[in-house]
Amino acid sequence: RARLKGISKSYGEGSACQEVLHAIDLDLPEGSLTLLEGPSGSGKSTVLNILGLLDRPDQGEIEIDGRIIGQWAERKLANLRNEEIGFIFQSADLIPRMTALENIRLPLDIRGVARKEANSQVREILDKLNMAELASQPPEKLSGGQRQRVAVARALVTRPKLLIADEPTSSLDGDNARQTASAIQSLCHELGTAVILATHDARLREFADRILHLEDGKLTPDTVTDAAGTA
Ligand code: ATP
Ligand code: MG
Repeated sequence: RARLKGISKSYGEGSACQEVLHAIDLDLPEGSLTLLEGPSGSGKSTVLNILGLLDRPDQGEIEIDGRIIGQWAERKLANLRNEEIGFIFQSADLIPRMTALENIRLPLDIRGVARKEANSQVREILDKLNMAELASQPPEKLSGGQRQRVAVARALVTRPKLLIADEPTSSLDGDNARQTASAIQSLCHELGTAVILATHDARLREFADRILHLEDGKLTPDTVTDAAGTA
C-alpha cells in the first residue's frame, strides 16, 4: 500500500513559479490498479516521480508500506526504492546483448539471489505471462509489445509493494497496449502490488480498479466512470 497526503509541488522561482500539484491526497491499496488520467502537462509524471521517490515534494507526506518518508538522505531513498518499488516507462529499455530471461533476472542478480533460485523465479513469472518460449530471445527478436511485457516482468520479479507505470503503452498499438495492461493487472492482483498507471489511452480503462483525473493541480475521481459504476 502507498499513500500521498497533502502533497504540493511547484517548479520555478519568483514570477516563473508554477504550482503543479496542490495538496494532493492519494491512496493506493494493495493489489489494485489505479489509472491516472489528465491533460499533457497536468503533473501526472510529477505525481509518479514523487511516489517513486525520484523527486521530492515541497509539502506533504509520502507513505510506502507503512513507512513515512521524511527528509531522508538520498541513499536511504534509493534503498527503499530498490526494495519496494518497480518502474515501467514508455520505452522498455532492455539490455540488447542479454536474453529476455537475463533481462528479467537482472534485479535479482543485483540483489545477489543465487542463480538457480533466480532462474526459477524468472521462469515462474514468464509462465504467468505466457511468455515461457521467449526466455532465450534477445530484445531485437521480440516485438514492441513483447519487449514491454518483459519490462513488466523485470519490474515485478522482485515482488515490489508498489508499481509505477508512466505511459507504459504509449508506443504500442491497440492489441499490444491491451496485452501489456492485462499483464500488469493480472500480476499485480496476484502479487498484491499497488499500481498507479499514468496514461492518455482510454482503452486501458477496462483494466483499472479505479480512475483518477488530474487537472489544475487537483486530483479527482473520474466522474463519468463513477456515475456508470464501472470505476
Ligand atoms: P504528459 O502527459 O505530457 O506526460 P504530465 O501530466 O506527466 O504530462 P508533468 O511532466 O508532470 O506532466 O509536468 C507538469 C508540469 O510541470 C509541466 O508544466 C512541466 O513543464 C513542469 N515540470 C515538470 N518537471 C519539471 C522540472 N523538473 N522542472 C521544471 N518544470 C517541470
Ligand atoms: Mg508525463
